[in-house]
Amino acid sequence: MNNEILVFSDLDGTLLDHHTYSFAAAVPTLDKLAEQNIPVIPTTSKTYAELKQIRSDLGLQTPFIVENGAAIFIPEGFFNEQPKDTLAKNGFWIKEFSKPVAYWRGLLDTLKGEFDGQFNHFANMTNAEIVDATGLSQAQAELASAREYGEPILWLGDQDTKVLFLKALENLGAKPLQGGRFLHLSGECDKGKALIWLKKLFQSTKANKEYTSIALGDGQNDVAMLNAADIAVRILSPVNEPPILTKENDVHTTKRFGPEGWADSLNHIIFNC
Ligand SMILES: [Mg+2]
Repeated sequence: MNNEILVFSDLDGTLLDHHTYSFAAAVPTLDKLAEQNIPVIPTTSKTYAELKQIRSDLGLQTPFIVENGAAIFIPEGFFNEQPKDTLAKNGFWIKEFSKPVAYWRGLLDTLKGEFDGQFNHFANMTNAEIVDATGLSQAQAELASAREYGEPILWLGDQDTKVLFLKALENLGAKPLQGGRFLHLSGECDKGKALIWLKKLFQSTKANKEYTSIALGDGQNDVAMLNAADIAVRILSPVNEPPILTKENDVHTTKRFGPEGWADSLNHIIFNC
């Protein structure tokens, strides 16, 4: 078979249960994908520090995409040679799409007068506040706050003011993205651009194979990735409607939430069961 599959998967609410962060229901399918050498590429709003732990829990040695497409981490040696436009650091080849987080925090500082008390953001939050807002454990919250590229914002005000706030950010050249809990502030990067870049890279290493990308996600920050994939899977969410896509063909929507829906859809699409 000359067809190779790449699975790009969101984590929170998709491969990980929205409430418990468990991926137990996906384990048999993860095992089958590993047996077939089909890479599962975590594509997430989470940080590199968080991914280090989660990859080892998931038993994945594949590339991964952090902070909503701000950077792609490829384990050194995963491809025969270091890909162009990447830097080598901590055992990874890293492709960066965003300015560093300090830049975005500086932008937020300029809006603190106008939107006084209406938002909070990670750099400004104590670990306990992050635990409260996310349901993460203390240790997990520490990893989550190790941002390198983008800054999560917790909106505290009303919806009308939020619209003005989003406008103000866009006027400053930012591209805020709504995730399940947080607004994510970064530049012109998203999960879709990262998917396209990485799929091209895989394709360039095997000219005689045709790569098909399957993307799975449950939220607004997955829209670009789902639209960019050959096959899109919208994972049913207990907290929001399935994201609306411009892509019309090869769009699936699961009947079950999170990792159960994740496993159902990949079993159906890849393994015909
Ligand atoms: Mg999600």
